[in-house]
Amino acid sequence: MSKSNTRRTFAIISHPDAGKTTLTEKLLLQGGAIHLAGEVKARGQARRARSDWMKIEQQRGISVTSSVMTFQKGDITFNLLDTPGHEDFSEDTYRTLTAVDSAIMVIDAAKGIEPQTRKLFEVCRMRSVPIITFINKVDREGRSPFETLDEVADALALDVVPMSWPVGMGGTFKGVLDFASGLTSIPEGDSREFLGKREKLALSEDVTDEIELAQGGYPEFSIEAYRHGDMTPAYFGSALKNFGVAELIDAISKFAPPPRPQSSDQGEVSPDRADVTGFVFKVQANMDPQHRDRIAFMRMVSGTFRRGMKLTPSGLGKPIAVHSPILFFAQDREIADTAEAGDIIGIPNHGTLRVGDTLSERNDVRFTGLPNFAPEILRRVALRDPTKTKQLRKALDDLSEEGVIQVFYPEIGAQWIVGVVGQLQLDVLISRLEAEYKVEAMLEASPFDTARWLKGTDAALKNFADFNKSNLAKDRDGDPVFMARSAWDVSYQQERNPDLTFSATKER
Ligand code: GDP
Repeated sequence: MSKSNTRRTFAIISHPDAGKTTLTEKLLLQGGAIHLAGEVKARGQARRARSDWMKIEQQRGISVTSSVMTFQKGDITFNLLDTPGHEDFSEDTYRTLTAVDSAIMVIDAAKGIEPQTRKLFEVCRMRSVPIITFINKVDREGRSPFETLDEVADALALDVVPMSWPVGMGGTFKGVLDFASGLTSIPEGDSREFLGKREKLALSEDVTDEIELAQGGYPEFSIEAYRHGDMTPAYFGSALKNFGVAELIDAISKFAPPPRPQSSDQGEVSPDRADVTGFVFKVQANMDPQHRDRIAFMRMVSGTFRRGMKLTPSGLGKPIAVHSPILFFAQDREIADTAEAGDIIGIPNHGTLRVGDTLSERNDVRFTGLPNFAPEILRRVALRDPTKTKQLRKALDDLSEEGVIQVFYPEIGAQWIVGVVGQLQLDVLISRLEAEYKVEAMLEASPFDTARWLKGTDAALKNFADFNKSNLAKDRDGDPVFMARSAWDVSYQQERNPDLTFSATKER
């Protein structure tokens, strides 16, 4: 088995409160990363208080380590990447999903598919990321399992295959029957937790009928269909009471894909390629706000990384020596000696590494497919103290580099526009402007509703600019962007300018 075959790099997608934090904890506990579990909880609580963002900032040490959680079971190394679980959506979340090979979708058995689950699911689908479904909280009264399974199938247009079944729910809950082994995991003790006892349970006629229906009424599991993103195996369980967690880990080991080849300007790069390549999917400011040191999270695509290795970031063009990389190991944040395809490395830097950068030993490849997303909220940035223009520009450049916001510099007028996909990003922007750059800024309504990246020949772009100067801006990289007043505006201009493409994402 090649080393990359032993890696499973995945994320958990869910709506807030479905149980992601609890499940994460349980996965880490079973994988032996026990002391991390408390940290996950600490962060889970902290992140609820949205206005308390500065507190989260103070706990950056925690959030840096829990951005990537690595645990081991058997021969397999699991890399679990945290997708921030705010109700609002951030680009961070999207981008993290570009760095995983599969996802676990956690659904609350009483609530079914909720809005954020669906959004995150769509991002996974865009990239054909295979999904294992975990229907959580079966220790409580919930909807009928059939109802939930059918909702997943209908709402997400996926084939669903139940792999286990709750024997009763809520007050009548007697355990979870695993179809593969025919054994039911049994609640024990006052807390009615799963402590390891599995038996062949004698089932009542009602339950037997139900299970027959469940096994007959859904397609058969096919690993190809799952890996293709067309089918999801569904496990019932309770993260809180530990039901279904071991089965879930087994499922990831057995079914979830090892590191996949990644698209690049040179075609697909295989995880078996010998030299090191990877891409930065996230940049996080480090603990000390006085020093602008950051950690760039690189997903390894190929090769074996060794400490001190020289890698060339695509944005820089000359090699940097990676002396003190951070590997996110089960027991602690460790200085990494080696890392394989599928692993994540934290690379400390002072702003040289940007989200979307490729790093490689030979500087001969650029990964594609790490997009910027058309912002859904646009705001004008106004300064309380107009002499701080320079600081503001620097701050906006920095923060857009980090992926906190996108920034647009209009062709006409001096007021800069920031774009985000979720409200939370704006809160973070204001608080970081103040704390780190001593800039007090206000956000004002912008006349624009969305933005599209423009592509076309110079002549076509110039022609468009002649008529639409007041709707044109440049992004952080100097690329032209059409600032639209409405979706209608976009389609109107698209029709009138067939030589131009109006793109809702920008790949770097
Ligand atoms: P997150 O927002 O998705 O990370 O959700 P949490 O893991 O923080 O869980 C939200 C709430 O649901 C907490 O009060 C948990 O204790 C509770 N919870 C999580 N899993 C279960 C479960 O399996 N059964 C029950 N009854 N409650 C659960």
